[in-house]
Amino acid sequence: VTNLQPLLSRDRYTDEEWGLTSAGRCSWNTAFGTPSLTYCRKPSDPRSAYRFCTDHDFDIREDYGADYGK
Ligand SMILES: [Zn+2]
Repeated sequence: VTNLQPLLSRDRYTDEEWGLTSAGRCSWNTAFGTPSLTYCRKPSDPRSAYRFCTDHDFDIREDYGADYGK
């Protein structure tokens, strides 16, 4: 059992993303723009609202700005 449950609603995730996020793994797609999905799968950062790893949480904070976590 992990205390890193996803913070966003279930409908914000695909089944695969939900599985990774629930397992405390980063669900960032590292193959964005290609036909296949490849997930980062690094351990989630406890401070990440999206349960991304530290690096990808940093990236999304930069990209989303004030919309982070919404
Ligand atoms: Zn990651």
